[in-house]
Amino acid sequence: MAMVTGLIPIEDARHIVLSQCSVLSVVAADIADAVGCVLACEVVAREDVPPFANSAVDGYAVIAADLVNVPCDLPVVGEIAAGAAPDRVLGRGEAIRIMTGAPVPQGADAIVMVENTERLNDGHVVRINATATSGQAIRDAGDDIKDGTTVFGPGTIIRPAVAGVLASVNARFVDIVPRAQVAVLSTGDELIDDGSPLALGQIRESNKTMLVAMVAESGAIAVDFGIVRDDEQALEATLRHAADTCDAVVTSGGVSMGDYDVVKAVLSRIADMRWMQIAIKPAKPFAFGLLTNSSGRAVPVFGLPGNPVSSLVSFELLARPALRLMMGHSEPLLRPRITAIADTTLRRNPDGKVHYQRVHGRFGPDGRYHVSAGGPQGSHQLAATALANALAEIPDGNSVAVGDEVAVYVLAF
Ligand code: AMP
Ligand code: MG
Repeated sequence: MAMVTGLIPIEDARHIVLSQCSVLSVVAADIADAVGCVLACEVVAREDVPPFANSAVDGYAVIAADLVNVPCDLPVVGEIAAGAAPDRVLGRGEAIRIMTGAPVPQGADAIVMVENTERLNDGHVVRINATATSGQAIRDAGDDIKDGTTVFGPGTIIRPAVAGVLASVNARFVDIVPRAQVAVLSTGDELIDDGSPLALGQIRESNKTMLVAMVAESGAIAVDFGIVRDDEQALEATLRHAADTCDAVVTSGGVSMGDYDVVKAVLSRIADMRWMQIAIKPAKPFAFGLLTNSSGRAVPVFGLPGNPVSSLVSFELLARPALRLMMGHSEPLLRPRITAIADTTLRRNPDGKVHYQRVHGRFGPDGRYHVSAGGPQGSHQLAATALANALAEIPDGNSVAVGDEVAVYVLAF
């Protein structure tokens, strides 16, 4: 086995990145725009939810004690729709037609669902076919949330139902950690993205298109800074503009040892960078650092490798967790990690690196997560990776045999 020197473990690389990223400043936001963001305040209910006792069913408001002997016929003395206020008190031996969500009239202590009744005499009388217990089908005021309750604290992810609860307690504007604005740019004289025919040496740009989508999928806002040619002046100008207008910068290409790796040349000069060789395959070269912008703010810069699969893997393992940290998320910052069963051999040889193989995963009838090899694993072969939905983390050593356990990060279930 070839001994590889100077490589750092992925955990150390991630620590270097995460320890230099900080949570973005809190802003007040309309909850309609805040789904997926992290709450930065306590939310205390200032009213009961529901605000009044109301019916859980469509039916008849009654007094349970009137229904000792059923069937029994009661005069229907009124009707209350959702949104209406009762205009009378229910007396002994009476019924009021009531709809789901309508306020329970004073005097009533139970609701009989319409399925247990018959409409008689054009609706003026109801025949009740079931007895009732006091409180039946009545949702009390504050049954969901009592006035004064702390419903959520800082760190809560505003999932759709959380947004619903915020609306239900009239917290229309809340303090949140905003989505990071992330500049995405690709570098390389060979890249074409205007649909024109390819001259020899040219390739179609793919990383930026992919990374813009990955940034958006992480909950951040991608800002497309285009393709920058392998030209130091142009790159410096673009990087400075990106750092002035965004919370983070993601570049792809130009971070290895090539003569035209201008990202390395420029960032080494204008930013405080750490150039890493990580003990993983793919995505060994990676750069991270802080670029101080014209307002004196230190903006994280992620220098991803140019090979498309390497770009994807380093975004997943390093940039995405950092963006999530910046947006107020707490551990786990990585994707869900599951111990899976290998259904096919996952081939590798010892080389001093952890391999992140792109695999196809799914839950089997045994309730376990199973993975199978995901096609060609070259760092330029994005097509096979594109159809994979998990990253198998294969420690240095030999292949994973059929039936063996392997840890995977699930990218999509
Ligand atoms: P680099 O890291 O710049 O040396 O690029 C490594 C490899 O990735 C080269 O084959 C590049 O042509 C390719 N590459 C770099 N950037 C992109 C991109 N944005 N889209 C597709 N391929 C790229
Ligand atoms: Mg390049």
